[in-house]
Amino acid sequence: MKKRNILCAAFALGLVAAANAQVKFEEFFLPKTMRLDYYHAGDAQSEHFFVDEVIEEPYWAGNKHYLVDERPVGSHQFKVIDKASGKIIYARGFNTLFNEWQCTPEAKTTAKAMPEGIVFPYPKNDVIVEFYTRENSTGTMHKKFTYEIDVDSYFVRKSRPSLSTIDIHYTGNPAKRVDVVIIPEGYTEAEKDKFLEAAKAFAEDILGYHPYDEYRDKFNFRAVWAPSEESGISIPGEHLWRSTALDAHYYTFDSERYQMFEDYQRVLDIAANVPYEIIYVLTNSQKYGGGGIFNFYGISAANIPGASTRKTYSHEFGHLFVGLADEYVGGTEMSDLYFQGVEPWEANITTLANLDAKAWGRMIPADQRAKATDHSGWELNPQNPKSPDYNPKKPWSLGIYEGGGYLQQGVYRPWPNCMMNWFHRIDLYCPVCVEAIRETIDLYIK
Ligand SMILES: [Zn+2]
Repeated sequence: MKKRNILCAAFALGLVAAANAQVKFEEFFLPKTMRLDYYHAGDAQSEHFFVDEVIEEPYWAGNKHYLVDERPVGSHQFKVIDKASGKIIYARGFNTLFNEWQCTPEAKTTAKAMPEGIVFPYPKNDVIVEFYTRENSTGTMHKKFTYEIDVDSYFVRKSRPSLSTIDIHYTGNPAKRVDVVIIPEGYTEAEKDKFLEAAKAFAEDILGYHPYDEYRDKFNFRAVWAPSEESGISIPGEHLWRSTALDAHYYTFDSERYQMFEDYQRVLDIAANVPYEIIYVLTNSQKYGGGGIFNFYGISAANIPGASTRKTYSHEFGHLFVGLADEYVGGTEMSDLYFQGVEPWEANITTLANLDAKAWGRMIPADQRAKATDHSGWELNPQNPKSPDYNPKKPWSLGIYEGGGYLQQGVYRPWPNCMMNWFHRIDLYCPVCVEAIRETIDLYIK
């Protein structure tokens, strides 16, 4: 799939906040959700946040020990600060569709706004929310917006979810599980069974991949039934528009296979019907396509012929849940994504600027690195059909292979191929992606 969690930015690994900054959940939070809706606006050069409203939602699925994410991940971060003490009590990294749009040619000539929202456990006392954005050329985070919330204000809207929910794969207490909510798009009232079948297949497909297979009892998958007026989803390039729950469509940023929707608040409304942490949307379509954005949402067609449905789930889930980068070359018109001298924050690609900061670097000690580093470029890569050494079945050792992050040169990946690369030729994650998935799961279940 063309792009997902790319930001125009290249990201350096910033300094990690002091260790052990975690706070006690019961001291600062109530077991329900606060949601801050806003509009993310601007163009290629500028960025603005405009507040929409604050909402109280009934459930909180999150782990009570994983409150402040100290990892330098995402193109954005938000921090929730206890107003009285000045203490950071919750923080997350995330990417957005708006972010990606800022790297498109359209953003050079026009400004745009997209509805977004963030969720965090409901604070007991007044808080200050800060938004940060990563600077493209240096990889450092800059504060862009601050908003103070009076938690007792009667303007905090109380949402009352009323949609029916279905347990697809339930294993226990959400606080100790990765909680995935599965949402239908383009399924009519009469197609409920078709959606539920797809939702079951989705859960099994994700759990079928290594290392998710080792954590079957650490995942909850639940579905919310939100039918659409019409069956299928919109295909602008064919002048085909359908009235659906989320208004998802192909041809996002004029890329045929990039299937997304712009109103993130609408999917948050639907997700709020269950305790959730991760949102995946299944679309009632046979046309190849989808997308996944880190800590935002994932989406893809549920009926693509052959193995592509399952492989697409796994690829997009890697973007969504772990923030894995695309390991392939080409496929996007977006430029200035990765810069020499700036280490990408994603676990599975490197510019070699600071590989030591990554698990991958520890997996290939520095003294073995020269041997592992493949400077031969994409032309000689055995996975490139045009290479004289072309051999897609060649067994690989973990290394540093040139090509990745859409670039032929200067960005490297751990294996010649992986689920995050050309997944039509492979059906597993490379060891670096496997390790990153494990580390992410551990944050949610500890
Ligand atoms: Zn990989």
